[in-house]
Amino acid sequence: MGYTHYWYRRDREIPRNIFNAILSDFIKLVPALEDFGILLADGHGKGVPTLDSDLISFNGKRRCGHPASYELGIAWPTTNAGGIANPWREDVRSKPWFGGLTIEKRICAGDCSHETCYFPRAYQDDEASFDSHPGKREGTGWQFECCKTAYKPYDLAVTAFLVIAKHHLKESIHVVSDGVTQHWADARIICTQHLSYGIDFELDR
Ligand SMILES: [Zn+2]
Repeated sequence: MGYTHYWYRRDREIPRNIFNAILSDFIKLVPALEDFGILLADGHGKGVPTLDSDLISFNGKRRCGHPASYELGIAWPTTNAGGIANPWREDVRSKPWFGGLTIEKRICAGDCSHETCYFPRAYQDDEASFDSHPGKREGTGWQFECCKTAYKPYDLAVTAFLVIAKHHLKESIHVVSDGVTQHWADARIICTQHLSYGIDFELDR
């Protein structure tokens, strides 16, 4: 339970030229993300993200320095949510849902990390089972992955990363989400501003 994005990868290995294109586009976004106060860290929320030619792995920063002014519970974005909150000045809390609060903007409660966004160029044999399929209920052959962001600020990094991956991998990746089209607007826009693509991104079904 908790606001999550999901993707299915068809291929065990992504060709180097394509993975490098994904990597270099994502690296181009890092300064823009920092402008929004989104600092990326490694998978555990510490140190620096892994952004190299064999692995893209990141999280938000655990010790982000933001105030822990209230308990969010299992936060979920409101239908029209978007943007990044200034946690010192804005109260983004909206109506509660059964798990916690709904929020109008991405925010943390003193810990900007949540789940790792893990994207290896090539899966090792023991780390991937390829036992899912995006279209067939009992189907196999694709690798299922997910990243629960809880709509924390780095949600923008995860969604933008998936827009980039979809752009380069096309039909060999399927991207689905707990979010609706509106929740992906910021990712589409930041990619379009910095990479000149992404405005037409659509979630797979
Ligand atoms: Zn934070």
